[in-house]
Amino acid sequence: MTTITVAKGDGIGPEIMDATLSIILAAGAELQIEEIEVGEKVYLAGNSAGIAAESWDIIRKNKIFLKAPITTPQGGGYKSLNVTTRKFLGLYSNVRPCRSLHPFISTKHPVMDIVIIRENEEDLYAGIEHQQTDEVVQCLKLISRPGCEKIIRYAFEYAKQQNRKKVTCFTKDNIMKQTDGLFHKVFDEIASEYPEIENEHWIIDIGAAKMADSPEAFDVIVMPNLYGDVLSDVAAQITGSVGLAGSANIGESCAMFEAIHGSAPRRAGQDVANPSGLLQGAIMMLNHIGQTAIAEKVQNAWLKTLEDGIHTYDIYKEGISKEKVGTKAFAAAVIANLGKTPSIFQPVNYANNAALSLPKYKRRSPAVKTLEGVDVFVHWNGHDANELAQQLKSIYKKEIQLSMITNRGIKVWPDGFPETFCTDHWRCRFKPIDGNQMSKSAIPSLLMAANENGIDIIKTENLYAFDGKQAFSLGQGQ
Ligand code: NAD
Repeated sequence: MTTITVAKGDGIGPEIMDATLSIILAAGAELQIEEIEVGEKVYLAGNSAGIAAESWDIIRKNKIFLKAPITTPQGGGYKSLNVTTRKFLGLYSNVRPCRSLHPFISTKHPVMDIVIIRENEEDLYAGIEHQQTDEVVQCLKLISRPGCEKIIRYAFEYAKQQNRKKVTCFTKDNIMKQTDGLFHKVFDEIASEYPEIENEHWIIDIGAAKMADSPEAFDVIVMPNLYGDVLSDVAAQITGSVGLAGSANIGESCAMFEAIHGSAPRRAGQDVANPSGLLQGAIMMLNHIGQTAIAEKVQNAWLKTLEDGIHTYDIYKEGISKEKVGTKAFAAAVIANLGKTPSIFQPVNYANNAALSLPKYKRRSPAVKTLEGVDVFVHWNGHDANELAQQLKSIYKKEIQLSMITNRGIKVWPDGFPETFCTDHWRCRFKPIDGNQMSKSAIPSLLMAANENGIDIIKTENLYAFDGKQAFSLGQGQ
C-alpha cells in the first residue's frame, strides 16, 4: 500500500481525477489517498503560490503526488504552482512520452514513438531577471554540471530500462558555448558510459525541424529546460492529441505525475473531458512506485478501449470511432476492459518499469581558477563607443585596462562598425595590463573610480579561466 497525495485541481480537473482514480483502483492499485486543495481557490484566497503550507507538508511526507490541472487566475502576482513544485521538491526530470495511436487518432506521423526528457529545474527558468537600463532587461540562463549530469544520466538509464536504442541531445551550443556547451559536453561524457545505446547531438533549430517533420527518426531526446518545454508540446501535438499525453516529474525523493493539458475551464462540469492524459500520468506513477502489473493492466485496457472506438469528443472521428462517450462512460469502458489486451496496438509489458535508481551526484575536485579580467556593464546614453572608451580609459590606469566594448554582445570598440545599432547597455571588458596577473581588489578600485567620475555601472562579471581554459565568451566580431 502506498499513500499518495492527490489534488483534483480546477476546471475539468475533478472529473478527470475521479475517472482516473476509479480506473486504477478498479485495476487493483494499492493506494491510500490523501487529498489536498491547490490552485484557483487557494490563489484567490490570497495565497500567491496557490498552495498552503500544510499541503507542502503532506506532499513532502507522501513523496508521490498525482495532480490534476489547475487554473492560474488572470492578472499578475500569481506564481506558477508547477514551476514552484518542480523546483522546491527537486523534480529534475520531466519525462514526456509522445506516441501516436494511429489509426485511431489522426496524425501525420503514424509510427511516432518518442520520449522527451526535459531538464526541469534550471536554464532560463531560474527566474532571475532584471531591468538594468532604460532599454535593456536580462534573464540569466543558469546551467550547472550537476543539473546536466543528473538529467543526461536519467535519459540514458531510461533508454536502457525501456530497451530504447538511441538518445539524442538538442542544444544551441554553436551560439551558447558555455551554457549549452556544458550540456553537450556532459552528454558526450555520459554517452560514452553507454556504448550499447546510440547517441547523437543536433543543434536545436534543425533538430526541432527534423523532429516535427520525421519524428520516427528519434527515440529518446534529452534537452535543457526551455527547449524541452516547447518541443514536448510540439511532439505531443503532432501525435494527434495533446489531450492524451501524461507527464512525470521525477526527483531524488519525490515525484509528481500529471496530464500535460490544462484545466479546460469551458468544458468543466459537463462530463465531456477526456481523462486519458491524467490516466497516462497515473500509469507512470504506478510504474514509479513499483505497481507495474497494475500499470500494465490499465494501459492495455486503455489501448483496447481506444481500439474499440469508444472515444470522447476530442478524439471522436466519423468512420473510425464507434461511440462518442463522456468522461464517466469512458472510464467505465476502460474498467470493463481491465484484463484484456489490445489486438492492433502492441500490448505493453511493464515488468521492468519500476523507478530508476541513479547514483548520487559526486562533486569533482575544484579546478584551478584564475582571474583574467572583468566585464563592467555601463548604463550610458551616448552613441559613439569611442567617447565611452576615452572616458573609461581616463578614470583608471592601474593593473587593468579597457580592452573591448560590446553592445548586446557585438564588438563596438576598438574598430567597431558605424552601422551597428547600439542600446544604452555597454559591456566594457578590462584585462590586466601587459598580460600580467590581476588582483581581485582591482575590481572594487575600478568601481570606485567609475563612481567618482559619474559612470553608471550596473553590474560586473568576473572573467575566469578554469585549469587554464578561458571560461567566458568573447565579443562577437572579436
Ligand atoms: P487547455 O489545455 O486547458 O485547453 C486547450 C484546449 O484543449 C481547449 O479547447 C480544451 O477544451 C481542450 N482540452 C484540454 N484538455 C482536454 C481534455 N482532457 N479533454 C478534452 N478537451 C481538452 O489550455 P488553456 O485553455 O490554454 O488553459 C486553461 C487553463 O489551464 C489556464 O488557466 C492555464 O493556466 C491552465 N493550465 C494548467 C496546466 C497545469 O496545471 N498543468 C497546464 C496548462 C495550462
